[in-house]
Amino acid sequence: MAVKVCKFGGTSMADGNVMNRVKSIIESDKDRKYVVVSAPGKRYSGDIKITDILYECHKEVAEKGSCGAAFQLIRSRFNSIVRELNIDFDIDSVLDETEMRINTEKDVDFTASRGEYLSARVMAEVLGAKFIDAEDVIFFDENGLYDAEKSDKAIREALRGADKAVFPGFYGKGFNGKVKTFSRGGSDISGAIVARAVNATVYENWTDVSGFLACDPRIVDSPKRIKMLSYKELRELSYMGANVLHSESIFPVRKANIPIHIKNTFRPEDDGTLIQPSVYYTPSGNTVTGIAGKKDFTVIFIEKSLMNSQIGFVRKVLSVLEQYDIPVEHIPSGIDTMSVVIESAALKNGKLELVLKGIKDAVAPDTLRVLEDIALIATVGHGMSSSVGTSARLFKAMAAAEINVKMIDQGSSELNIIVGVNNSDCDNCIRAIYREFFGN
Ligand code: ASP
Repeated sequence: MAVKVCKFGGTSMADGNVMNRVKSIIESDKDRKYVVVSAPGKRYSGDIKITDILYECHKEVAEKGSCGAAFQLIRSRFNSIVRELNIDFDIDSVLDETEMRINTEKDVDFTASRGEYLSARVMAEVLGAKFIDAEDVIFFDENGLYDAEKSDKAIREALRGADKAVFPGFYGKGFNGKVKTFSRGGSDISGAIVARAVNATVYENWTDVSGFLACDPRIVDSPKRIKMLSYKELRELSYMGANVLHSESIFPVRKANIPIHIKNTFRPEDDGTLIQPSVYYTPSGNTVTGIAGKKDFTVIFIEKSLMNSQIGFVRKVLSVLEQYDIPVEHIPSGIDTMSVVIESAALKNGKLELVLKGIKDAVAPDTLRVLEDIALIATVGHGMSSSVGTSARLFKAMAAAEINVKMIDQGSSELNIIVGVNNSDCDNCIRAIYREFFGN
């Protein structure tokens, strides 16, 4: 029997009318049994997401002891949702209790999680489905990572006898017994966790776009839609800023080989993008699947004669970064050179100076240079490993657009080529690569 887990994002929960749409989507396919929801998102540009208002509530509690004014916005938003849905549901009692707990617990994760809690309570009512609180079934371990085994068991247990169920996304229970949230956008991860627990046939992720595009539509006009992606390509593209789906969503479903289908709540007839584990993946025939870019990196360039023969050189450099708790993104290297690429935000507040001093002390480099305001652009696709001349085409396109390459890193999987350019060249570079591989 097919079982579909459907996650609906913030724009699909934005108001009562859209929630009615969601109801018809779910009811149009009897396999759509388990639903995971986000907090209501923006109804129009300039509107405020419920989760953002909840973070304001927490600030108000911290400053004034209670969250009267900010919570009023939450209250009126959910009141109008219930009115638009025309359901008989005592949302006011649920809101009263929520406000009280926000004021007494004074906890940021608890407060932020209430948008999902409230929208799941409403959606369960709309569907006549069982509400299952994520706090009771999604668990984190002592390292703050989600505990797959314990969560799988609890989810299956909670679903026993339930034909349809609604879960709030974004949170679970921390090791200390308190509510803990994932990072922002984390309801995508919750959906994947439920899909894995029930061994779903497919994990449908309903958003407000019809899937992944080959690059950012703010940079290239109407880029091609990607019909199929592999998990690995997805990971590369979403890590690099293609933000249709949270970049960690594949981990729960990967082991179980569950496909993820990105669909559009506002155009349910569109095919969307199907993200397949490698066992089901069929290459599209295109050399490149997608291009994504991320700005604001710093490159530390280190040169030292005979570096390659000095045992432990790289380790010494990396331990300086470890000492200051700085994550490293890439380490392109040559015979006597290595570069370390780091997100600039991680080097703020004097950390860059500390790191440079640490590297000087640790390895006494001949040259130590820093390049700031660097953008990384990843050109991703399984087709790249089998077509000869892909990098030649890429660099020729960049040269023709007069873009200076500051750094090159080709992953050993040959799934991607990453180039570093000045932040100011980023968009032009993406356009040039897109034109080369996709035409105009
Ligand atoms: N509501 C949360 C956020 O705004 C989580 C989510 O939407 O996935 O980040």
